[in-house]
Amino acid sequence: MSKSKSPETVKVVVRCRPMNEKEQANKFERVVSVDVKLGQIVVRNPREASASESPKVFTFDSVYDWNSKQIDLYDETFRPLVDSVLLGFNGTIFAYGQTGTGKTYTMEGVRNDPEKRGVIPNSFEHIFTHISRSQNQQYLVRASYLEIYQEEIKDLLSKNQAHRLELRERPDTGVYVKDLSSFVTKSVREIEHVMNVGNQNRSVGSTNMNEHSSRSHAIFVITVECSELGVDGENHIRVGKLNLVDLAGSERQSKTGAKGERLKEATKINLSLSALGNVISALVDGRSSHIPYRDSKLTRLLQDSLGGNACTVMVANIGPASYNMEETLTTLRYSNRAKNIKNKPRINEDPKDALLREFQEEIARLKGQLQNRSGEKKKRKQRRRAGEGSDGEDLEGETEDDDEDGDDKGDYWGEQQEKLERERKAIMEDHSLVAEEKVRLLKKKEKKMEDLRREREAGEMLTAKVKAMESKLLVGGKNIVDHTNEQQKILQQRRHEIAEQKHREREMQQEMESRDEETLELKETYTSLQQEVDIKTKKLKKLFAKLQAVKAEIHDIQEAHIRERQELEQTQNELTRDLKLKHQIIENFIPLEEKNKIVSRAYIDEEDEHWKMQPITRIEDDQPMRTRPLSAVGYRRPLCHHARVAMMMKPDTRYKAENIQILDMDLPTRTTIDYQEPEFAPTVAAALRDALRDEDEIQVDAFGFYSTSGPTPPASAISSLKKTKSGRPRTGKMSSSPKSPFSPSSPGSPLYPQCRGLVPK
Ligand code: ADP
Ligand code: MG
Repeated sequence: MSKSKSPETVKVVVRCRPMNEKEQANKFERVVSVDVKLGQIVVRNPREASASESPKVFTFDSVYDWNSKQIDLYDETFRPLVDSVLLGFNGTIFAYGQTGTGKTYTMEGVRNDPEKRGVIPNSFEHIFTHISRSQNQQYLVRASYLEIYQEEIKDLLSKNQAHRLELRERPDTGVYVKDLSSFVTKSVREIEHVMNVGNQNRSVGSTNMNEHSSRSHAIFVITVECSELGVDGENHIRVGKLNLVDLAGSERQSKTGAKGERLKEATKINLSLSALGNVISALVDGRSSHIPYRDSKLTRLLQDSLGGNACTVMVANIGPASYNMEETLTTLRYSNRAKNIKNKPRINEDPKDALLREFQEEIARLKGQLQNRSGEKKKRKQRRRAGEGSDGEDLEGETEDDDEDGDDKGDYWGEQQEKLERERKAIMEDHSLVAEEKVRLLKKKEKKMEDLRREREAGEMLTAKVKAMESKLLVGGKNIVDHTNEQQKILQQRRHEIAEQKHREREMQQEMESRDEETLELKETYTSLQQEVDIKTKKLKKLFAKLQAVKAEIHDIQEAHIRERQELEQTQNELTRDLKLKHQIIENFIPLEEKNKIVSRAYIDEEDEHWKMQPITRIEDDQPMRTRPLSAVGYRRPLCHHARVAMMMKPDTRYKAENIQILDMDLPTRTTIDYQEPEFAPTVAAALRDALRDEDEIQVDAFGFYSTSGPTPPASAISSLKKTKSGRPRTGKMSSSPKSPFSPSSPGSPLYPQCRGLVPK
């Protein structure tokens, strides 16, 4: 069913940004020169020692220098790719390179400057213009935006930014992100809004936008579905998916001294990028049968774009200044390898998950409902005309069961409402009715009006839903006769032709270069010995230079390789050290038994490379918790032979089949006593009674304060006590003749506290 393109290689283009202000101010030397015509990038080493070193030359499909315009890049390189997406192919554009070399500039560009718009906004314009010019086709465009940071996938369009998404794989559609939100967009403005929302979410989540963007990969996905009547008279749907990828900065992250979280971060940051490099190497190697797509989220997600069903363009961004030379060379080598990857793109025709098909079916269903509704309405009208249902009873019966239906004409509803209103008034004015009956009838009418209103609303909602859904399906051909549109179309075609022409020219130039050497060989007939010597010397010189270049290249690659290996070893050492610590903690602080239990339960989830714990009891998702099976011999639970024998032999509860025993409650032992009133000595009680009788005659006797063993009260105290009668404050109601001569209330005595002592008489 699906149509294939002939296998094509990944197209690699290189773009060198201009020197920035800082580089200009510091007078950095430019080491990169760009030969646009030949598609060559030449890197010269500025160091004195390497003056003799020949410059490094890299050839690509197209190269763009610092003067390149965004639109030129688009027309020459990206437009053909987006065109193929519109035909139903998958397409991917990667921007690769060191931080600050223009990846985001190439992909997004400068927002409010139409001249500096990047690939993403330009592709919006391209796609929607194409749709508006199409004829007899129906389109559905939707967009998603996601980010991969530290091997975690975040949906940039989701409300819940803390949520992390997972990758899933289906045999028919391949790898996809589960629960990734996508928005159907009807115009450039709408899709731009989607991009802005995503960009805002990207920057909100980070403390430093530059740092964050240099460590994360952002993927904007546009899915274009197109439905067209085929020659077989059937509607066919083609689905093209465009991945626009702004990769993390490719510079080496310094790994020295990283510990804990930072180490984790450092090892994860470039995991996707190094996995991408490994995938590229494995693909171009030809010898390895295993392609390590599963090593990272990025490579898994873009599996189709590398060696699969997609057309791919990789933009390698480089900086021109000398201090970036190492990174520039690494980027150039990396992309040089990528250009040998072969893809097998084909049109995705009638895939199972086409949203457009779902939309079409839903619209047809809703329209069917509307049609049913209008059919019913007609019937009702006819019936009304024939004199049926004039009392409204019929209408009530119908409105109840078809409140889902809708209507398209207001007059029907108006009529009905007027009629009900009239009836309501008639009831109000009918004096022959009893008040209760009136209320009942009025309520009935009101209910009918309410039903009518609801029915009308449902109908309107249905119509609005159909309209909304239809508006999402885009059809072109409206302004096809528009003059300016025609002109633009022609202009675009010309631009496309020019781009093609340039491309052909470059290819011819490159071919001529390589032919040059062959033609030299063909001139085998020499007129003189001297001429032969000259020509052969020339040839030798050329070959020698080439040999030197190749040798230098080998040397460079080896060096880069060693450096990379050292870095990997360093990371490995740090990770081993970290692991040792964890081991030590486990060995010393976690009981062996517990550790073994955990180890036996743990398993690795291949899907997202995480260790997970097997549940202790396995319950399938859709199964209710299993009940304990009844034992065959009639016990509540299975029993072993020993338990059964033991149960019969002795009444030990341990072997009872029922593990719930009913026991009498043990009452707790008492720990408190009841309250008892304190008892007064009869003499005290009598004294109190007396005291309460007459206050004036109170007599206080503090003699009891002095025990027999205590000191004898001083004479002064005794003498002062004799005068108590008048000295005591009149607060109590005591009265008794003083028996004891001592009283503590004497102001003259420092020994006695100021209180009243009550003693028996
Ligand atoms: P990256 O995304 O690779 O980290 P940016 O796209 O943010 O880099 O570019 C860094 C700076 O360089 C930005 O200010 C950008 O405007 C500027 N820049 C990059 N490429 C170009 C170019 N081709 N022409 C003009 N300015 C550029
Ligand atoms: Mg960037």
